[in-house]
Amino acid sequence: MAHERLKIRYSVRQTFLTIMLLFIVIMAALLNIYPTISSRDLVFSTKQTSMVGQVTVMSTSLSVLETLTEENVASVMELVDVNSFDRVLVTDNSGCVIYDTWEEGAAVGSTALFSEVFSALAGSVVFNCRYDGDAFISRVATPVVASGETIGAVYLSEYDSSQALLIAGIQSRLLSFSLILSALAVVAVVIITTFLTGRIRELVRAMRRVRGGDYDTRTEPRGCDEVTELAEEFNDMTVKIQNTTESRRRFVSDASHELRTPLASIRLLSDSIVQSEDMSPDTAREFAADISSEAERLQRLTEKLLKLSRMDSSAETPRERVDVKAVAERTVHLLAPLANQRDVRVTTQLAEGCFITANEDDIYQIIFNLAENAVKYNVPSGSVLLRLYAQDGRVVLTVEDTGIGIPEEDLPNVFSRFYRVDKARSRAAGGSGLGLSIVHDAVTLHGGEISIAPREGGGTRFTVSFPPAPPEGGEGDA
Ligand code: ADP
Repeated sequence: MAHERLKIRYSVRQTFLTIMLLFIVIMAALLNIYPTISSRDLVFSTKQTSMVGQVTVMSTSLSVLETLTEENVASVMELVDVNSFDRVLVTDNSGCVIYDTWEEGAAVGSTALFSEVFSALAGSVVFNCRYDGDAFISRVATPVVASGETIGAVYLSEYDSSQALLIAGIQSRLLSFSLILSALAVVAVVIITTFLTGRIRELVRAMRRVRGGDYDTRTEPRGCDEVTELAEEFNDMTVKIQNTTESRRRFVSDASHELRTPLASIRLLSDSIVQSEDMSPDTAREFAADISSEAERLQRLTEKLLKLSRMDSSAETPRERVDVKAVAERTVHLLAPLANQRDVRVTTQLAEGCFITANEDDIYQIIFNLAENAVKYNVPSGSVLLRLYAQDGRVVLTVEDTGIGIPEEDLPNVFSRFYRVDKARSRAAGGSGLGLSIVHDAVTLHGGEISIAPREGGGTRFTVSFPPAPPEGGEGDA
C-alpha cells in the first residue's frame, strides 16, 4: 500500500521540462514571425507613400497636355525620373499604350492588360505590393485628368530585391539568435530541474530510511528555498521522533524495572511459604502481609502508569468548571491520617471563587501528589501550607513545606519519570518517582504552569497557576 502511494506518476522534472520547452518554442516562433511581419508592413507603407507620390507627379505633368500622343508624352516624361522604376507605362483613355520604358517601348500600340490600368482609367489611384521571398513587387496606377476628363493613365512597377535582402538578413540573424537562446534555456532548465528534483529525491530517500527505523538520518539543508525549509522541518521532525522513541524506550525499561522488584519480592515470599514445611502460622501471616503490601505497591504503580499513559494519548479528557478550593479541602481531609501519622500539621489559606476549566480528577491528582509529597518528605512536627488565590488574571495554588527540601542540582529533574532524589526514602515512603511527572503532565494538559523553588527557612515550595474559567453562563462554560 505504502509503496503504491510513493510511486511517482508524474515526474516534476518531465512536467517542468515539457512546459518550459513549449514556452521556448512559442517564444522563438514569436521572435521570428513578429519582427518580420512588422518590417514587411513598414516597407509596404513606405513604398506606397513614395510610389503614389511619384505617379501623381507624372500624371500632373501629363495633365497639362490636351491630348496624349507618343511625342508629347515622351517629351514630358523626359523631364521626370523614370529610371528608378522597372517599367513606366502611359496609356490613352482607351487603354492603348503610348509610352513604355520596358524593352524600348515594346508594348506601344497594344492595349495595356494590367488591372491597375483599368482601375486608373475608371478614376481610381491603385497601389499593390507583394513580397515573394526574394523581392518586393510594387505596382501603382493613376488617371491623367485634364479639364475634368480622364485622358489616360500612368502605371509604374518596381522590383525591389535590396529591401528583401535586408529583411532576409534580419530573419536569419533572428533565427540563429533564437536557436542559441532556446538551447541555453533548455540547458538551464535541465540543470535547475535536475538540481531541484535531486534534492527532493534525496529527501524522499531520507524519509524512507526513517520509515525503516533509522532515526539517525538527517539531510543536508542546502540553499535557502522551500526545499531547504522542507529539509530543515524534516530534520526537526526526525529529532523529535528520535527523542520520543528514546523516551518511550526508557520509560518501558524503567517501568519494567519498577514492576520487577515487587514481583520478585512476592515470588520470594510465596516460594518461602510453599517450600517451608514447618513454618509457624505467625511467620506465614507475616509473609502474607508482606506479599499484600508488595501487591499494593504494584497496584499503585500500575495505576500511576495508566494515568500517565492516559495523559500521553491525544484523547480529549472531559472538562468542567472546577472549584479548586473544594478539591483542595477534600484532598487535605483525605491526607489527614497520613499527616497525623507523620506528625505534620497541614494548614490552608484558600480563597473563594477560584474556578478553572479542567478535568476534576486531574486537578485532584495535582493537589494530592503535591500535598502528599509535602507530608512524606517532611520532618516530625513539620508543617505544610496550601494557599489558593487569584493573581494577575490567573488562579494560583502554592504548596509549601518545612521538610527536607530538594537539592538545587536535582530541581530540574524532579518532573522526569521515575526520578527520585533519595531512592531509599522514596521507596520507604511508598513512592514510585511518578507523582511529579503526573503533576507536570496534568498541569500542562490544562494550559497551566508549574514551578518549584526552595522555601526560605528550609523546605520546598511548588507553585501552580491556571487560566481562570470564564464567568458562569458565559461562553465556553461547560
Ligand atoms: P515519589 O513517588 O518518589 O514521591 P515524585 O515524582 O512524587 O515521586 O517525586 C520525585 C522525587 O522528588 C521524590 O522521590 C523526592 O525525592 C522528591 N520530592 C518530591 N516532593 C518533595 C518535597 N516536597 N520535598 C522534598 N523532596 C521532594
